Amino acid sequence: MQFAVLENTDDDTDPGVLLDRERMRLAIDEARAALVHEDVPVGAVLFDAEGHVIGRGHNRREERGDPLAHAEVEAIRQAARERGLWRLDGTVLYVTLEPCAMCAGALVNARVGGLVYGARDPRAGAVESLYTICTDARLNHRLAVRGGVLEAECAQLLRDFFRRRR
Ligand SMILES: [Zn+2]
Repeated sequence: MQFAVLENTDDDTDPGVLLDRERMRLAIDEARAALVHEDVPVGAVLFDAEGHVIGRGHNRREERGDPLAHAEVEAIRQAARERGLWRLDGTVLYVTLEPCAMCAGALVNARVGGLVYGARDPRAGAVESLYTICTDARLNHRLAVRGGVLEAECAQLLRDFFRRRR
């Protein structure tokens, strides 16, 4: 379990910080794929404890007409399907935007070990902004959380999308 990478530090020489950024860039690439079908660009990539990608997803809400088709749910579903297991212990999810209540709940239910996110979401974020679902001691599972990784890039992608739509 790579909890070391989840420490809150901006030290550019810290290998954990550099690894987080490298992985977040994959989540940003995934977010860009949502633009093809006019969905809000949010992307997620799930890594196992050995650092292999075991699930990826981007927002497909508009494309599928599915309110549950958020990036995080897509990535979790892909990994669980391939493993044939609902438990995703020891995995770490990288996502470009702070998860909403549904996705934060899905991460807890899937027993995902860690969460690294990019931009904060003051309107709907359920990890640190509005609620703290992933670290709530009343629930039976908690995640190691690190926010703000490549925050500027992740937020810019969203800002550009909403500006174009206006
Ligand atoms: Zn969500």
